[in-house]
Amino acid sequence: MKHQDLLAIDVHTHAEISCRQPEDDYANDIEEQKKKYFKSGAPPTILETVEFYRAQKIGLVMFTVDTEFEIGRRRIPNDEVLEAAKANSDMMMAFGSVDPHKGKMGLREVKKLIADGISGFKFHPTCQGFFPNDRMAYPMYEAMAEAKMPVIFHSGHSGMGSGLRGGGGLRLKYSNPMHLDDVAADFPDMTIIIAHPSWPWQDEALSVCLHKPNVYIDLSGWSPKYFPPQLIHYANTQLKHKMLFGTDYPLITPERWMKDYDAAGFRPEVKDLILKQNAIKALGLDRK
Ligand SMILES: [Zn+2]
Repeated sequence: MKHQDLLAIDVHTHAEISCRQPEDDYANDIEEQKKKYFKSGAPPTILETVEFYRAQKIGLVMFTVDTEFEIGRRRIPNDEVLEAAKANSDMMMAFGSVDPHKGKMGLREVKKLIADGISGFKFHPTCQGFFPNDRMAYPMYEAMAEAKMPVIFHSGHSGMGSGLRGGGGLRLKYSNPMHLDDVAADFPDMTIIIAHPSWPWQDEALSVCLHKPNVYIDLSGWSPKYFPPQLIHYANTQLKHKMLFGTDYPLITPERWMKDYDAAGFRPEVKDLILKQNAIKALGLDRK
């Protein structure tokens, strides 16, 4: 990624619509409810998203989420996201998503993605139905740590399943960021990014991030207008080198995030850190 030419790096965007595989209509209740919860319209394709970011000179990290085990919906292929990143390597990076329940076959996929040039990985404990410190996932973490891959974990409440009968069967407990404290201790050289304000566990996220040098927080998924005050306080002070700009696009657009950021009480001197400099370090772009 040619970060010198970019105004910002968005570390959290989603591959929503494949350009080659028809959308899976399985578990459509969860998908329909998601659209209602987030009041979102028709999502963009992968290539539309890339062009949208290119026009704004914002770099992006994009991933699909493999929920085939817990939700049963067919994922967008990691390879498709990776190919888009390769074709746009000046401003895009692809993260892979492989459900840890896939065991050895999943581990093979992780290793193949690394060999093929993936830049990191994304997990969603609630939508994948596992505790991040479950030993089941450790062989994957070992492969990722060895290859110096940064790893993003969803944290906190999830809009997925919200309001559905039984929450669509999805469990919030998996996304308490305190479970990542074990992972950060057991893989001290693996960069871990806690995604989103972690409500209702914001303080847990801040504590883990303060305690473990390898842990970052991405500020995606919420308008900065609604960030808990302690998140902004730490972003301005002790954690100013560990907070990352992210949107959760297409749920939030970069324009809306930036506009609300400017009014949310961040100090001027942390802006460039949050928008770009911290991501350069967390993504290892300073090592490449
Ligand atoms: Zn997300």
